[in-house]
Amino acid sequence: TRLSTRIQTLTAGGNGWAVYYRAREMKAAGVPVLDLTIGEHDRRTDPAILEVMDASARGGNTGYAHLTGSPALRDTIAARVAARTGVPTTRDNVAVVPGGQFALFAALMAGIDPGDDVLFPDPYYTSYPGTVRSAGGRPVPVPARPEDGFQPRAADLLVACTGAARALLINSPNNPTGAVYSDAVLEGIARVARDRDLWVVSDEVYDTQCWTGPHRSLRSVPGMAERVLVAGSMSKSHAMTGSRIGWLIGPEAVIAGVSALANTTTYGPPGYIQDATLHALTLGEGFEAGVAAPFRRRRDLCLARIAGQQAVGVIPSGGAMYLMLDVRATGLSGVNFALQLLETKHVAVMPGESFGAAAAGHVRLALTLPDDDLLAALDTLLTFAQE
Ligand code: PLP
Repeated sequence: TRLSTRIQTLTAGGNGWAVYYRAREMKAAGVPVLDLTIGEHDRRTDPAILEVMDASARGGNTGYAHLTGSPALRDTIAARVAARTGVPTTRDNVAVVPGGQFALFAALMAGIDPGDDVLFPDPYYTSYPGTVRSAGGRPVPVPARPEDGFQPRAADLLVACTGAARALLINSPNNPTGAVYSDAVLEGIARVARDRDLWVVSDEVYDTQCWTGPHRSLRSVPGMAERVLVAGSMSKSHAMTGSRIGWLIGPEAVIAGVSALANTTTYGPPGYIQDATLHALTLGEGFEAGVAAPFRRRRDLCLARIAGQQAVGVIPSGGAMYLMLDVRATGLSGVNFALQLLETKHVAVMPGESFGAAAAGHVRLALTLPDDDLLAALDTLLTFAQE
């Protein structure tokens, strides 16, 4: 008759999603809203991937599947990780799970005990506080600074580490800021983790959307493979958000723990989705670059459009499908800017405050509309900001 304390901490929520829900309400009522709120591709899963999914299901692969991924799929993911990080990786370092979000939860379930602190840079992906609480931990956001392009400072993380600190949770390329952590930042994070004997959960679901050069995984920082748990996903790289498939990469003992967790939670991702994923991963880096390309192009188009005007500042993103705008010069909070823009101009963006206190006075654009619609929405936003 009474909800658990843990679940109550998850349902308490904030008003971070008010704009998103209001936009949905308006769209349902027939208002033509240009919606830049969430990170969902404007393309669907590739037909070649769907064909494999279909053939696998029709061929009978509809029963219980491998708990943490078929050996072939785990081998393929291990080879991909090894090639991209230079770190020897085998199937025993890979658990295939239903999506990157579950990988984050599994990493924390494996790595922390109730009451442990989990530190993460603010701004942060909206699920992080709840994911930490789901695993019994205490979320500790550590402000990053707009003037640093929202790259976290190791010194700030260190100051926030109390005796209860057990893990860092980082995300590069970053949602919502688009920041790609520099080598110096990654090495600083690695130093903090080693000094304080912490796990680092590295959310790398945007690793194929990196505009600064090849993505650098924290797993590739020397000496870190034993304490880094990497969350990966097919959602963003292959436009497969609805297929719910991703993975956790980490030491063998952690992967064995995730297998035990899967045995009490998911029973593994569906076999036909695993087969489709195995095929999708053979499509190669060219395919992945093609999925990512529109976001890079739209980012460049938006930056060109914003250049030279005063009302709105921009943090040029290094990756991911987002752009963070600084609207502090308008005198409005991010929430009020987004709500008024939606009500009066029918353009929906996410308030920075949805992603933590450090992003106050900012709004996030998801670059997930066709170019013309995106630019029309941006022009409307810029005009609104000047009014
Ligand atoms: N991590 C970040 C930073 C994200 O932005 C998202 C989804 O938007 C996820 C994790 C979850 O992704 P998945 O669909 O793989 O669960």
